[in-house]
Amino acid sequence: MQYPEPIARLIDSYAKLPGIGAKTATRLAFFTLDMDSEDVQGFSKALATVKDEITFCSICGNITSTDEDPCSICSDPSRDQDTVLVLQNPKDVMAMEQTREYHGLYHVLNGLISPSAGTGPDDINLPSLIQRLAQHENIREVIVGTSASTDGEATAMYIARLLKPANIKVTRLAHGLAVGSDIDYADQLTLIKSIEGRNEL
Ligand SMILES: [Zn+2]
Repeated sequence: MQYPEPIARLIDSYAKLPGIGAKTATRLAFFTLDMDSEDVQGFSKALATVKDEITFCSICGNITSTDEDPCSICSDPSRDQDTVLVLQNPKDVMAMEQTREYHGLYHVLNGLISPSAGTGPDDINLPSLIQRLAQHENIREVIVGTSASTDGEATAMYIARLLKPANIKVTRLAHGLAVGSDIDYADQLTLIKSIEGRNEL
């Protein structure tokens, strides 16, 4: 016997999520069937609207609501306006914010330079960083917080080479992070130490 089409469709949808196999997808589909109608409506509304209601901040590249651009960090005058921490993705920003130890601004690359994958500097949100630095002379330090992977290092080196002539201090988060690990999995203490012990590139 096959599952009725509406359930089969839901199982297929859940199975598209990372780490969800057929068995878990089936369990989730039946769990959904048991949920309150109101909860299911809320869930489906959140799913249906997320792509339309989230955009990238026109200044830093972090995710933000479509009705809040620039994002809440870029438009917060109490943040240190002279320091920019460059990170790979929005999840890294969230991890750093949770430490409450960093009070500067961010720039989110939404990727890394990867010679092996053919991803160049113009394929990530890097040109806008250069533009931003040219427009805001008060930015004195750029901290590169890309991962300690090969691509993360290549990206850090590229940024350092690019900014050195502009007389901007370029530092790198101390390598308390394991090679290839994403910053969002590191514990908060490691992140705090990593920022305190940053090295000039
Ligand atoms: Zn922003």
